[in-house]
Amino acid sequence: MAPPRVLVIPGDGIGPEITRATMHVLERVMDRYGVELEMRYAEAGDTAAEKYGEPLPRETLALAKNWADVVLKGPVGETAGIVVVGLRRELGVYANIRPARSLPGVASVAPIDLVIVRENLEDVYAGIEFSVPGAAFAVKVVTEAETRRVARIAARYARARSGRVTIVHKANVLRVADGLFRSVARKVLEEEGVEVDEMYVDAAAMEMVRNPTRFDVVLTMNQYGDILSDLAAQVAGGIGLAPSANLGDEKALFEPVHGAAWDIAGKGIANPTAMILSAAMMLRHLGYQEAALAVERAVEQALEEGYSTPDLGGSLTTMEYAKAVTEFLG
Ligand code: ATP
Ligand code: MG
Repeated sequence: MAPPRVLVIPGDGIGPEITRATMHVLERVMDRYGVELEMRYAEAGDTAAEKYGEPLPRETLALAKNWADVVLKGPVGETAGIVVVGLRRELGVYANIRPARSLPGVASVAPIDLVIVRENLEDVYAGIEFSVPGAAFAVKVVTEAETRRVARIAARYARARSGRVTIVHKANVLRVADGLFRSVARKVLEEEGVEVDEMYVDAAAMEMVRNPTRFDVVLTMNQYGDILSDLAAQVAGGIGLAPSANLGDEKALFEPVHGAAWDIAGKGIANPTAMILSAAMMLRHLGYQEAALAVERAVEQALEEGYSTPDLGGSLTTMEYAKAVTEFLG
């Protein structure tokens, strides 16, 4: 079988630096675990916009759509909206996956280990907004088909973690829209044989700070997931450490949650953990379980032994930290 094709988009700001660090770890783990990947690089973001006049150049989009199986993307600056929304839509990646997990040696608000599965294309972010004199409207879109396929992804995560799915919604107020999401999601999860419970989004926000370990897999709508996943990331120690995946039926895109961080770009001090952990999610998605786990364990051990970049109080450069991580690869 041909090796999976990975399109690497380094992006803007600290993107190229953390991408180099991530590639260092990835190359080592590929050697150790016999992982084969075919990789190509492409540009997108502010720098690409200056060079080519468009933040998501046609060539990049064509490679992502027609060549790549998966995309590993760094952060993008000002043009993030155009690049991220464009890629999500064009690749049909309808589920956004954000794990939040406390890491050793990193201060967290409370112990946490959960995965948020967020619907990625509908809800009030579907782009249907309009106004009339004196009033403005944003339409909340919920379809059965979309809810069903996102719920199936949540079921898959729940089985892999031998856990439970909590459906988060506000169906007591939004009886029709959230009501449809809740009933379709519940039906799918029950059919899939996973344990299900439900929580209103306001209660979920409170519980995620008060008692985050009560959650395992959280299945929620686009806007609630947007807000809750930043909250969960901060409980775990900050968005600088948070990886993410965007999954579709054919394609997948993996990226750190944080932005381009222009303030520290080019200084070689950015923390590459979020992108390294995004690469681990990519390995797992491609079926390289052992390699994925090895990367995650190596990051944990490096942090536990006190290896860290300045944002976590350490003094290592981006590349020194990446080298420390590779030392812990089994
Ligand atoms: P955006 O405009 O996309 O939000 P940003 O440059 O504001 O991008 P954020 O992710 O919001 O970046 O991060 C805010 C600040 O946190 C950055 O300016 C930077 O100082 C710090 N930061 C973010 N990611 C990292 C990282 N990987 N390593 C070190 N510091 C980071
Ligand atoms: Mg910011």
